[in-house]
Amino acid sequence: MAAKSDSMKKVNVAIIGGGQGGIALLDILKDDKSIKVIGVADKLDKAPILPLAKDLGVPIYKDYKELLKENNADLVVNVTGDNKISAKIQNIISDKAEVISGLSAKFVWDLIEQRKKVRKVIENRLHEHKSLYDLGLKLTQSSKLQEVYKVIVDKALDLTESPAGSLVIYDEASDEMYFGAAKGFSEHFIKDQVWRLRKGGLTELIFNSEGPVIVSDAADNKSLNNPLFLKEKIKSLVAVPLKAEGKIQGILYVDDFKVRQFKQGDLSILTLLGNMAALAIQKAKLLESTKQMAITDELTHLYNLRHFLDRLDDEITRADRYDRPLSLAMIDIDYFKQYNDTFGHQSGNKLLKKVALILEEESRKGDIVARYGGEEFCIVMPEANSQKAIKFAERVRKNIEKVLCKSGIKDGVTISIGVASYPKDSTGSSALLEKADEALYQAKSDGRNCVRAFNLQRQAQ
Ligand code: GH3
Ligand code: MG
Ligand code: MG
Repeated sequence: MAAKSDSMKKVNVAIIGGGQGGIALLDILKDDKSIKVIGVADKLDKAPILPLAKDLGVPIYKDYKELLKENNADLVVNVTGDNKISAKIQNIISDKAEVISGLSAKFVWDLIEQRKKVRKVIENRLHEHKSLYDLGLKLTQSSKLQEVYKVIVDKALDLTESPAGSLVIYDEASDEMYFGAAKGFSEHFIKDQVWRLRKGGLTELIFNSEGPVIVSDAADNKSLNNPLFLKEKIKSLVAVPLKAEGKIQGILYVDDFKVRQFKQGDLSILTLLGNMAALAIQKAKLLESTKQMAITDELTHLYNLRHFLDRLDDEITRADRYDRPLSLAMIDIDYFKQYNDTFGHQSGNKLLKKVALILEEESRKGDIVARYGGEEFCIVMPEANSQKAIKFAERVRKNIEKVLCKSGIKDGVTISIGVASYPKDSTGSSALLEKADEALYQAKSDGRNCVRAFNLQRQAQ
């Protein structure tokens, strides 16, 4: 079966006339597997068709008679514009061969061109299908989601022949949007990595839309009056809201810097890509929350012990490399057992959450706040020497005392804090933890609700 098309006899075509008509004809016929162009003839030395014919390896003749005598033509197309030579041609070629010229020649190549267009549409479809198939594979195989985001944008631009586009991710918790991937924009445009939803803006419009939102001409669209958009000179766009399980995950954009009417085919392909993108984002979020779960304490949402120990090691390595100080505060709730016994375990849990929240609020951006276990917490303070750490611990202690003065038994809930510092008290993470614990023990012995720093002399006594 496979050999059938190869062995199929080709139609031998001769082209007479090397002007624009001849060029168009040769250009159309060259890709047609059922046709062989046996030669072109033009009496001019510099006929426009010559370079193309040479390129394609099609023999060139000055005299059409010679071309027809040397070859067996099935069809001769006369595009010289001179119908008189058609009769002469007919005399040379066999009875089975045919000559077409003038209007009929034009009709034939219109037909061929039509067929070529149809083939192009089919090829494009195939290309689209292959692209989507590839993308589907990547999506299921890749754990590198940045890569998948990039591929989605690349495919969207490729398949819709657009110069720019982006995949924007929506984070529901913070109500913020950020670029997952972007291509074809100025650096200035993508510099602002995170932004908020603007009431009445384009994003809101897209979020509320069931299908793609199309802007053919930015000048007609009030939602596009964002200065950043205007500066980037985006004139038209298609935005596909990305939804998975009814929830908005982000937006897939393709943009153009000229006014443009997007085709129905573009919209269908973008909708398909949008479905894939929504899945990718959902997968990314799931991965992220799994990672987050592995490092956080379920009750307080602070870092858990394991992650805290990892980070403490990292921070000590860094402090060592850059010769910087670092401090560690170990915090313990005073008489917590009594609190539990009096108010119950659930209330104890609520108190733990409250204390965790205050610790987090009080700490600086680079600090690492963790639940060390039970009713004990730890804070790593990079860049803080002993003095600064004591000051910070004192502030936290006072704040807890103030906020929780009405909670619990007698005079409210208080905490005790032990502080140890690198490199003053120790140069290793486990020893530093021990020193902070010793300082905490001292705070407890000194009556609780106080801060104590590790003190070498006191230890020696
Ligand atoms: P001190 O002032 O010496 O620290 O006394 P304390 O009562 O706070 O210390 P102790 O170590 O005797 O008691 C700690 C209590 O914390 C005992 C334990 O039941 C309780 N606890 C540990 N984890 C949790 C938890 O997740 N939830 C609740 N509600 N209680 C917890
Ligand atoms: Mg304790
Ligand atoms: Mg305690």
